[in-house]
Amino acid sequence: MILKVARMGHPVLRARAEEVTPEELSSGSIAALVADMEDTMMEYEGVGLAAPQVHVGKRVAVVEVPPEARHEGDAGFPRTAMINPVVTPLTDEMVAEWEGCLSIPELIGLVPSPGRIRVEWTGLDGERRAAEVAGFAAAAIRHEVDHLDGRLYVDRIEDLRTFQFTREFARFGRRRSAG
Ligand code: ZN
Repeated sequence: MILKVARMGHPVLRARAEEVTPEELSSGSIAALVADMEDTMMEYEGVGLAAPQVHVGKRVAVVEVPPEARHEGDAGFPRTAMINPVVTPLTDEMVAEWEGCLSIPELIGLVPSPGRIRVEWTGLDGERRAAEVAGFAAAAIRHEVDHLDGRLYVDRIEDLRTFQFTREFARFGRRRSAG
């Protein structure tokens, strides 16, 4: 089922989401939420979606980053439901990526992220998992876990002059970044 997406200004996007308990996970309610979140992510062609974006204050995110979504040679990240995810930077080197958000439609901005991260999460089966991620997928996962802490990508934009409408970016942005 496609869910309504909360837009910037809704308080649910600024609250810290709650940890999912083992009881909730075994009840099946989280699996149902994840299925709806995946439907919603696909409908709006996102590479990730966090539960607060569908008005649920739980630490649940889905991600799916196709290989080479942004950069040649990037591995991407397969479709994954992450319960109680934790991101740890593996480098001090920050890489800037253009980010958008289904909760802030039609806008993008340039956001610095750690170039390589470790992410740990619990799967729907209750097993704890971990992965090391680089490239655009690392930024996408950081973006989703930020949502669980009430943080939006706009909070991380260093140069607000990069904050712009996608349509204008398509007209003028590429030319500028290529120059
Ligand atoms: Zn977002």
